[in-house]
Amino acid sequence: MKYIDEFRDGELAKNLALSICAEVQPGRNYSFMEFCGGHTHAISRYGLSDLLPPTVRMVHGPGCPVCVLPIGRVDMAINLALDHGVILCTYGDTLRIPASGGLSLMKAKAGVGNKSGDIRMVYSTLDALQIARDNPQREVVFFAIGFETTTPPTAVAIQQADAEGLKNFSVICCHVLTPSAISNILESPEVRQWGTVPLDGFIGPAHVSTVIGSRPYEFFAEEYRKPVVIAGFEPLDVMQAILMLVRQVNEGRAEVENEFARAVSRDGNVKAQDRVAEVFELRREFEWRGLSVVPYSALKIRQRYAAYDAEKRFNIDYRSVPDHKACECGAILRGVKKPQDCKLFGTVCTPENPIGSCMVSSEGACAAHYSYGRYKDMH
Ligand code: SF4
Repeated sequence: MKYIDEFRDGELAKNLALSICAEVQPGRNYSFMEFCGGHTHAISRYGLSDLLPPTVRMVHGPGCPVCVLPIGRVDMAINLALDHGVILCTYGDTLRIPASGGLSLMKAKAGVGNKSGDIRMVYSTLDALQIARDNPQREVVFFAIGFETTTPPTAVAIQQADAEGLKNFSVICCHVLTPSAISNILESPEVRQWGTVPLDGFIGPAHVSTVIGSRPYEFFAEEYRKPVVIAGFEPLDVMQAILMLVRQVNEGRAEVENEFARAVSRDGNVKAQDRVAEVFELRREFEWRGLSVVPYSALKIRQRYAAYDAEKRFNIDYRSVPDHKACECGAILRGVKKPQDCKLFGTVCTPENPIGSCMVSSEGACAAHYSYGRYKDMH
C-alpha cells in the first residue's frame, strides 16, 4: 500500500476484524496495552474497539508525552517565564497542561496579577533557536518534553546553539524513555501481584520506534514473556497488530514483531541515537504523572553542554505537586481506570477546560474518549 487512504479502508478493516473474531479462542480473554497515545487516538477515532470481539480488550498506556508530564515540571516553566522574565518556547499542547494554582502556561501568558509571561508556541526546536538569535538581549528557554521521538531535535538544537556560540539559549529537559515506562507498568502491583490489570501483550509505539528501533522491546518479550507488535498509527495497522498479538498468545509465543516495517528497523535511527547520546545522559530519577518516581526513566543534559541547561542556569529545583484530588489521570495512565470512571469527565473537565493532563492532547485517553467515544456511554 502506498497511500494513506488505503490504510483506512473500511472493507479491509472488517476483514481483519473477522479474522480476529475467527482466531480468538472460546473462553479465553485477551488484554493488550496500546502504549502510545497515537494508538489510543486511532482506536477512539476509528471506533476500533467496536470491531473487536468482547473478549479482546484494549488498555490505554502511558505513552502520551503531555499526559505524563507532572505538574511540578510545568510549574518550573511558568516560574521561568513569570519570575525570571525569559522567553519561554514550547510545543502547542504543552501550553494547556494544568499546573499549580489553576494555572497553565497559556494562563500565565495571558497574565497573573500584574505579571504576564512571554510564552511562545513553536513548531520545532529550530523556531526556538531563531527566537534566541532574534533576541540576543533576552534569555530564551525551550521547554522540551516528549519521548524518544522529540529528543533528537532537542539534541540538535543544543549542539547548534553551541556551534553558533548562542549564549542566551537553554533548555528545560523533560524527555522521558519508553522502555522504562513499560518496565514500570510490568512491575506495577496491579500487573505483577494483584492481577487487576491483566496484560497479554503490547502494541509498541510507531514514531518512538522509528528512532530506537525494535530491539529495546526484545527484553520484554524475553524476560516478561510479553509479546510486542510495533504498529503504525493507521486503523489497519492497529487491527493487523491486534491480530498478530492474538496469534502470538494462541501459539504461546512471546516475540517482538514489526507491523510497521515501512518505517521501523531493528536498530532504528542510529544517527539520531548518537546525537542524543552526545548531548544527554540518564537522570537518576524522574517523576511521571501516574507512574510516580521512576528510576533512570528520563534524560538530563550532559556536563559538556551544561551552559544550555536551564535548570542549572537559573538554579531552579523540581518540586513535586499532587494532582487534583478528583482527577484519575494517574490510574488511567497505569491502565487501572478508564476516562469514564472519572467523576469530572465531560462535566467539569473538558478539552476546553482540562482539569487533568489526559484531557489536553488529542492523544490523551480522556480527550480521545471525549471526542469520539462519549456518545456510546449514553446508550
Ligand atoms: S476527565 Fe479530566 S480530571 Fe478526570 S481523569 Fe481525565 S483529565 Fe483527569
